[in-house]
Parts: sequence; structure tokens; C-alpha cells
Amino acid sequence: MRPVTILSREASYPYQRPPLSKKYLLGEMSLDRLMFRPVEWYAENAVEVMTGVSAVSVDRMSKTIQLSTGESLSYDKLVFATGSAPRNLPEALTHGLSGIFTIRSFADADRLRPHMQAGKRLLVIGGGYIGLEAASVARHLGLEVAVIEAADRILARVAAPTTAALFRDIHRAHGVELLEGVGLAALTGEAGRVTGAELSDGRHLDVDLVIAGIGAYAEDALARAAGIACGNGITVDAYGGTSDPDVYAMGDCAEQAWKGLHLRIESVQNAVDQGENVALNLTGAREAYRPKPWFWSDQYDVKLQIAGFNPGYDETITRAGTREGASSVWYFAGAELIAVDAINDAKAYVTGKKLLDGGRTTGLRDAIADPATDLKSLI
Ligand SMILES: Cc1cc2nc3c(=O)[nH]c(=O)nc-3n(C[C@H](O)[C@H](O)[C@H](O)COP(=O)(O)OP(=O)(O)OC[C@H]3O[C@@H](n4cnc5c(N)ncnc54)[C@H](O)[C@@H]3O)c2cc1C
Repeated sequence: MRPVTILSREASYPYQRPPLSKKYLLGEMSLDRLMFRPVEWYAENAVEVMTGVSAVSVDRMSKTIQLSTGESLSYDKLVFATGSAPRNLPEALTHGLSGIFTIRSFADADRLRPHMQAGKRLLVIGGGYIGLEAASVARHLGLEVAVIEAADRILARVAAPTTAALFRDIHRAHGVELLEGVGLAALTGEAGRVTGAELSDGRHLDVDLVIAGIGAYAEDALARAAGIACGNGITVDAYGGTSDPDVYAMGDCAEQAWKGLHLRIESVQNAVDQGENVALNLTGAREAYRPKPWFWSDQYDVKLQIAGFNPGYDETITRAGTREGASSVWYFAGAELIAVDAINDAKAYVTGKKLLDGGRTTGLRDAIADPATDLKSLI
């Protein structure tokens, strides 16, 4: 056995997921380009990758892991990097019909793509980033698209009303029927395939396919079954450690304390940076992880870049950018800048990120609110 073994239940070496609801779904990016590293890299760096193999249980007393192949592996240190899994619509609404998709893996995107044909009617359930990105790809490919969001507005969990309003307008301008405050009552079908949706407001939509983008939950069942402390995900301390000193967790499956919040962060930045931090701490360092959050979303010709976390904000300030179509939304909790959404506005993103990463977050409000302020002067 090599010093590091990665178990992957997917039939693939590690790859990036963000393009799955963007360029990969559009057919503009190949699977090769999703890969984090070429296959040879793993062998050259003494990392064994077992693909298509799941860990099915962990025995912490004997420090062994049972595999789906029937074999077992022993470990000195174990890292849960099990990610998150998409929530599925309840069976009571879907009645086992086909034509209903979620997007988590490249295999999911590969299954979905052949159905994304011009003229087909797509219903996206959930107005979060993944659902809205899928809607944007579908319009690009010529599908008719409706998006329903059960909350009173899209992006309610992740963005301020101003940012949500901007994306609502963009989607409607691209011909998406976007319905907010409207849930799904049931899906209907013929010959086992989805053909319609009954909505909570009594409306009926004819549909050919459905994408559910209704959130994700931590893949923490294995850790829970092994008796490791979990909350909304596997509970980790600032060093990535769990309630077992030989077990660590990172990325989407881990819940961490940060600025008084208990956060489970679903972003590439967090998975990569926390992964590096756990690797350091596994190899003898004792370094606390400090998230430097950023996130992005691509929809139509709009690039949204987000720096910071906005939970707890009580005020937002919107600035027009210096270029056509550029704007930014700045989030404050009291006097403290906590996040910025930059819409086609690289300057606002870079400024916000530098201020947040550098911890220079107070005494900025009035300058940011003043449209005459050159953002560069704040750094
Ligand atoms: C469609 C989509 C679009 C996204 N867009 C963005 C974006 O624009 N920007 C951004 O920052 N983030 C985005 N994200 C989120 C980002 O991809 C995740 O935060 C990131 O992949 C988390 O990495 P991870 O290593 O924690 O988990 P994952 O990438 O989920 O990897 C976990 C792996 O562990 C495997 N696994 C789980 N349990 C077992 C087991 N028992 N045995 C063996 N293997 C197991 C899983 O199958 C999976 O392959 C997106 C995600 C999706 C799905």
C-alpha cells in the first residue's frame, strides 16, 4: 500500500465539479479538462487511487475500513473528504418517473446532456446557483425553460435581494419563465416518463424533463455510523480534526466554526484550502485553517464573483461599475464589511477580496457608498 490512498466510489480520478452545470453541460468542455491532475501524477507522487470503490464502514478500534469490494484497508490517519450529495425530490412527488435529473457528477451531466435538445421543455426546480446555471445552459441550447422557486425569491439562502433581482431580470430577459413563491405539488407522466408538473399555485406546466436543484446535504453517514461527532456535516475543529484524533474531515462534508457561525461550506476554494490545511496538520504542523471564501457563478454572459460570506448582514450597498453592465453589492454587518457580490465587475471583486483577506473591513462604509470613490484607493 502506498503512503496515501484515495478511495473514490466514482469511476474517475478527482475532477472539478463547477463546469458540470456550466461549460461541460453545454458541451464546450471535455472530461479530460475537468481532471485536477493527469493520471500519472498520482503514481509519481506515491498516491494510490482506487476508483469505483466505496468505503462502506469504518472500525475505529481496529483502524480498518471495509470496502465495497469485500476487502478491507487499514489506516494510521483517515480523512473524510466525502463531499455532499444532491437532495432528491420525494418519491411522493416524482412517482418513480424518468426524465428527472440532478447534477453532482460528470456521469449525471452525461446522462442529462442528450435530453438537452432545442425545443424541449425543461422545468428547473430550485432557484439556487446550480438550477440557474442549468437554466442558462438550457436557454443557450434552445430549450424552453421554466424555473420554480418555493421561497419568495431566487437565491434567498445565498444572496441579497439586489443580486437576486438582477439575476431574475437576466433570466426573464433570456426568455425563462421564472416563478417565485411557487412549489411543486406533483409531477405527472405517461408511460413512466415525466410529462407535466402541477404547481402549488394550481398551474400546470407541460414538461419533457426536470432538473432538481434543491440543495445538497453532507455525505456524513459513514462518519456518523462510526460514532464520529456530526452536526450539519462532520464536526471539525480549526485544524480539520474530528472527535477522533486520528480522523480528519474537510470540504463539503465538514462543518466548521467560523466567526461564531457553524458553517458547512460548499465551494472549491474551501475544499482546496481546507484540504491543504488538513494535509499540513496530518504531517506534523499545527496550523489553524482560516477560510478566505470566494465563489463564482456563470450565467449567460454574466460572471458573478463573490468574496466573503454574507450570513448575518444587515445592510447592503450597491455600486454601479465603471463598465457597462458591471455592478457590485457590498454586505455589511454593522460597521463591518463581510462580503461582496461582483457582477461583471472584476475591479470590485479584487478590491473586496483584498480587503476581506487582509482583514481591513471597518471604516469603509461611507467610501463604498460614495459613487465617486475609486475602489482601488481603498486597498
Ligand atoms: C454542478 C455543480 C456546480 C458547482 N459550481 C461551483 C462553483 O461555481 N464554484 C464553487 O466554488 N463551487 C461549486 N460547486 C461546489 C464544489 O464543486 C464543491 O464544493 C466541491 O466539489 C467539494 O469538494 P469535496 O472534495 O469536498 O467533495 P466532492 O467534490 O463532492 O468529492 C467527494 C467525493 O467522495 C466520494 N465519496 C463519498 N462517499 C464515499 C464513500 N463512502 N466511498 C468512496 N467515495 C466516496 C464522492 O462520490 C465524491 O466523488 C459546484 C458543485 C456542483 C455539483
